[in-house]
Amino acid sequence: MTFWIAIDGPSGAGKSTAAKGVARRLGFRYLDTGAMYRAVAVGCLRSGVDHGDGPAIADVTRGLDLDISTDPDNQYILLAGDDITRAIREPAVSAWVSAVSTNPECRAELVRRQQAIIAGGDFVLEGRDTTTVIAPTAQVRLLLVARPEARLRRRGAELGAKVDAAQLRDQVLRRDQDDSTLVDFQNAAAGVRVLDSTDLTIDAVQDQIIAWARQAGLS
Ligand code: C5P
Repeated sequence: MTFWIAIDGPSGAGKSTAAKGVARRLGFRYLDTGAMYRAVAVGCLRSGVDHGDGPAIADVTRGLDLDISTDPDNQYILLAGDDITRAIREPAVSAWVSAVSTNPECRAELVRRQQAIIAGGDFVLEGRDTTTVIAPTAQVRLLLVARPEARLRRRGAELGAKVDAAQLRDQVLRRDQDDSTLVDFQNAAAGVRVLDSTDLTIDAVQDQIIAWARQAGLS
């Protein structure tokens, strides 16, 4: 039987660091569902689709040839064989991605692909709807949160000089607000635990998640 650990939460809460670290420590695969939304945004930008053209964005999503790594130590994502691992982190992509994530047809297509990927083994997966839509039967489901100032600080450190303060607020706070319109990842669904990482070290966050996994029967 497969064992899944699903982690949702707003941007900058520390999901990727926690999810990758836990996957590494447990020998699990890792799926960054947000990277797939970002890859669709790259595909749309490259094909010149209009930001407001929902049906065209849905078409691009369905036709996308995506190959995403599930190795926590070697993350890459290919679009039609082209390595877009770095391109998906560009501010222009972060600014575009809500047009994908607020499109129900895109969500349906990506959820279908994500479920197919995790069916293959033990996974730590992270995103906005992993605990509620992609893997509601996951043995561990948690919402990783942090206070806004901590989230802005972390994203700022990650992006360095690439963004100014206004872009940073757009990438963290505005994006969370847009994302909330389709998926409620700000409030824990029934059975989903909440972990606040604001005052915790990276190790303490991972230790807590692994302790919950053991409680849930992981040997
Ligand atoms: O996690 P990350 O910031 O890379 O995600 C990029 C975007 O993808 C989010 O802002 C959100 O709009 C979307 N997303 C989503 N559902 C997921 C993962 C990401 O809607 N499961």
